[in-house]
Amino acid sequence: MSLDSQSAENYSMLLTTIELDEVIDAVSALTSQIGHPKAVAITLFDSDLEIFADKEVFGPRKKDFIKFVETFSYELWQDLKVDVSKCSLLEISDEELLGDLAKDLLPLYCYVVSQSNNFCACILIANSSASHKEIEEHLNRYPIYNAITNAFEVREIKRENDRLRHLYDELEAKNRFLEEQTRRLIYDTETKEALRTRHVQREKLLYEISNAVRSSLEIKDVLKNAVDKIGATYDLSRCLLFKRVISSEDISVYEYYNKHNSSALDLLHTDKGTEFMQAALSKKTAYSFFEADFNSEINFDPGFLRELKVVSGLLVPLIVHNYVLGAIFLQDCSQQRQWTIEQTAFLESLADQLSVAIENADLHEEKKLQAVTDALTGLPNRRHFNETFSKEFERAKRYNEPLSLIMVDLDYLKKINDTYGHAKGDEAIKAIAKVMNTSCRAVDLPARMGGEEFSLLLPNTDMEMAVNLAERLRKLIQDIKVEGVGSITASIGVANFPQHVNDMSDLLAKADEALYVAKRSGRNKVCAAER
Ligand code: GH3
Ligand code: MG
Repeated sequence: MSLDSQSAENYSMLLTTIELDEVIDAVSALTSQIGHPKAVAITLFDSDLEIFADKEVFGPRKKDFIKFVETFSYELWQDLKVDVSKCSLLEISDEELLGDLAKDLLPLYCYVVSQSNNFCACILIANSSASHKEIEEHLNRYPIYNAITNAFEVREIKRENDRLRHLYDELEAKNRFLEEQTRRLIYDTETKEALRTRHVQREKLLYEISNAVRSSLEIKDVLKNAVDKIGATYDLSRCLLFKRVISSEDISVYEYYNKHNSSALDLLHTDKGTEFMQAALSKKTAYSFFEADFNSEINFDPGFLRELKVVSGLLVPLIVHNYVLGAIFLQDCSQQRQWTIEQTAFLESLADQLSVAIENADLHEEKKLQAVTDALTGLPNRRHFNETFSKEFERAKRYNEPLSLIMVDLDYLKKINDTYGHAKGDEAIKAIAKVMNTSCRAVDLPARMGGEEFSLLLPNTDMEMAVNLAERLRKLIQDIKVEGVGSITASIGVANFPQHVNDMSDLLAKADEALYVAKRSGRNKVCAAER
């Protein structure tokens, strides 16, 4: 490579590079071109700190030169008294300054790199074959000052940039941390608030329902109150409570519905509705389901659930001693509600309280019923009959309405007992009770008066109608077949107020008398009382 082309390359390198290392390499290269020095050192001056901050040494005698360069930059420099206002080359020949520098590294030059009174570096050249003038002219040709100071600036900018980036990263991390803390704080606060609200709502519901259970409210009021409170607290579309009616197949319904829905009672009182309630009452654990499950849901009729507009539902059974007394149905018509384990457990404990209240009320009801019911036939007993009889008699008198009384006595029961056993006699009694219970109107009162004697009180019924009914009863009884016994018959006496009597006790006596006549005249007969 010719000197000129290499100079040109160094020149363009100085102008284009902004990396300090590359600038130093280029300066070293262009210095080494003139007189092939045995070593070259570039010492960079930091004008803020007023020291030589960076040093680089090049050339075949680099190792022997390093020590001098170190001493030069720390101490000797001060003693040189260089004019740093302009670029200049000076020879260091003072023996004291040179110290023990090897003689073959002489002559030693120091080129001051400066511009307009600003100084940025020294280039130390050891043992160059070129003259002072040649070296100075050669170096003056290059924009060394600009190249070094630009690279310096770039390095400073980069350092500043790195510092700022580092600072920014730190701030960013701090920011992320704070954001995360804030998020957590908001979440904690919201969660705590939601928990607190839920807790307060639950406490309130529990308090209100246990209060209702404890108070002397009728069970009907307790249950209506419970569905209203549960419905409102959980913001339900509908809350239904199904309860088995004691000693019957019936199911009573208590209902809450919000302003967007209407009563489901009419729907529930259809065959499909009864089926749904029966299925609901077969569940012994809490059970939730969604619209999506309807097709795979075998227990409930999907069509009926759609008619009820169920989107999701939760069934909570009312159980005592493993017997399902009823069920609460929590219905949503517009959302698929996911009931949590905690909510379900809470509703189950509410259901337990209600179940105990229902059981107590049922027991009470049962006792009341037992007191007025005949155990063998389920018909009202004599006591019940007497209470109702006196009320009905008063009523008939006051409103001037007829009141008829039918007395029925099974024929030859003693014989049945003796021939087929007491159980067969019981069966015959029960069969007659059933006929009497199913053959009269809702306002009539059948009763077992004792033994095999029955009565049937017929409000607002004249004698003719009563005799007709008695005849119908007689035929129905005659049609009864008691297994192992065969047909049975009964004798019947009929009396009427005001046709036969004016007093209550006389009516019973007159009907009895007529019955006695029926017995005497051959049994399996209807006899009307005589005046
Ligand atoms: P009659 O046709 O005259 O009424 O004859 P009877 O045998 O039915 O009447 P009687 O008064 O002679 O006998 C009534 C019998 O009914 C006597 C009694 O032991 C029996 N008896 C009373 N109560 C019951 C009961 O609850 N179950 C059974 N199996 N027998 C009863
Ligand atoms: Mg009898």
